Amino acid sequence: MAGKAIVIGSGLGGLATALRLARRGYHVEVVEQYRQAGGRLNQLESKGFTFDMAPTFFSMSYVFREFIEDARIEMPFRFVELDPLYTVSFSGSDRRYIIYKDLDRLADQFRDVEPDFRNKMERFLADAGKLFHDVDRQILNKNFHSLADFVVQMTKVDVRHTPKIVRTVWKELDRYFISYEVKVIFSLVAFFLGSTPFDTPAVYSILSYTELKHDGYHNVEGGMYRIVEGMLKAMEKAGIKLSFNTEIVSYEAEGKKIRAFTDSNGKRWEADLFVVNADAALFRGTVMRREKYSIPRLDKMQWTLAPFTMYLGVKGKIEGLDHHNYFLGTDYRDYSTRIFRNRIKLDSPYYYVNANSNFNPGCAPEGCENLFILCPVPDLRYKPDWSDREWLADIIIEDITARTGFDIRSNIITKVVLDPVDWQNMFALHRGSGLGLGHKITQVGAFRPANKDEVFSNLYYVGASTVPGTGLPMVMISSRLTVERIDNESGIL
Ligand SMILES: Cc1cc2nc3c(=O)[nH]c(=O)nc-3n(C[C@H](O)[C@H](O)[C@H](O)COP(=O)(O)OP(=O)(O)OC[C@H]3O[C@@H](n4cnc5c(N)ncnc54)[C@H](O)[C@@H]3O)c2cc1C
Repeated sequence: MAGKAIVIGSGLGGLATALRLARRGYHVEVVEQYRQAGGRLNQLESKGFTFDMAPTFFSMSYVFREFIEDARIEMPFRFVELDPLYTVSFSGSDRRYIIYKDLDRLADQFRDVEPDFRNKMERFLADAGKLFHDVDRQILNKNFHSLADFVVQMTKVDVRHTPKIVRTVWKELDRYFISYEVKVIFSLVAFFLGSTPFDTPAVYSILSYTELKHDGYHNVEGGMYRIVEGMLKAMEKAGIKLSFNTEIVSYEAEGKKIRAFTDSNGKRWEADLFVVNADAALFRGTVMRREKYSIPRLDKMQWTLAPFTMYLGVKGKIEGLDHHNYFLGTDYRDYSTRIFRNRIKLDSPYYYVNANSNFNPGCAPEGCENLFILCPVPDLRYKPDWSDREWLADIIIEDITARTGFDIRSNIITKVVLDPVDWQNMFALHRGSGLGLGHKITQVGAFRPANKDEVFSNLYYVGASTVPGTGLPMVMISSRLTVERIDNESGIL
């Protein structure tokens, strides 16, 4: 028997780590402050409607296959590749760009705005693809033990990619394409990282390669929460116990080892090994009391966008909505460079609509739609007051109504709104930042909060704010890296 392990947090990173550790013989328990498992990969139910709370698709599906082999469990859910991937429309125009994975069909969408689109896109993706495979091999799947180790690893990435560190995603697209629409649409990937194409390094054009060429995007049959439900079943089989409404607030140590964490009710949680799935930067600041991660120091770091989300159960079927839809304005550069610092009014917001009932009819009553709307907004450092949330919700509802021609307001059966304060409080997200720490070059690899604690030998971290980064596939890789590290260091635990 390997000993007792406690995982703090039941996000995807925590659940995957718990199962990997159980397979290695650990007696595992999970403690979670929220009322149910999943973290940001959660679900919301209201009046017969079921909504994915945040993630609505994922890339790099093979990381889930690798996980089930390591944890020796059955695939806990069924996923389906998306094609088309999503649609994009601009305000003031009826035109909808449908983003197909098939490059011939995609080229048809841009025939009139971008001459020779297919060849240009092939070249753009070939370049991004080379970088992706280099980064995947040398950086993403590696644990770094020191800054020097990281630098050595970086030198193994082909030097021809170096300009992409200083160039932005937008500048990179500028080198291949002339059309405003093409550049805007294929720079949206920067928002998936919680940032903007005007301050995200061009290395992240690898995301265009992952969406269009590599493994594409995938949706889960029955809704994204099936991932969590499937994992919970596997955990039950493995004898892993979960305790909810349990917030860890302090620790007890002896020498270089943590003896126990304590929750807000004073209960002690003892174990031989601890893995923290709470935000790796915030937890170090608030629970471990590390000066480097004090709130003022955290505030100086780069954090990803905050979500303003709305969940609408609507009577009737809405024509003109696909599964994943982006609704944009026409002042893209101005909007995206100013929105995150609250320097532009939110009266013409850019937003994403997920009409899940098109794909998963069981998520809404017969003849109804369940809409999940995500609008990226400033985090609580820049906009702490959300007393205007109903105003913003109304603007978005009016805008969807105008763009689809369907009277949403008169047909709403249920409506739930979550602003950045809610997101902060539900899952302990610093200033309501949705995706965790940002990914500028000085916040990745060895510069990111490590998955091994700086002081205690039996304390590790997993999830979006440690290595390699945010998003469901990265978090799955994070759980592998953390457990690899535990495997290698188990002699010293
Ligand atoms: C609106 C939105 C949309 C997104 N869309 C996508 C998408 O389409 N595709 C994609 O791949 N990714 C998406 N993401 C990102 C993805 O959700 C995250 O990267 C991922 O779910 C993070 O998982 P995690 O395990 O690192 O952390 P979390 O899911 O945050 O889990 C951490 C858990 O720790 C708990 N916790 C924190 N502190 C404590 C404490 N002190 N004591 C006890 N428990 C604690 C929290 O309550 C939480 O449950 C989206 C995120 C958001 C917010």
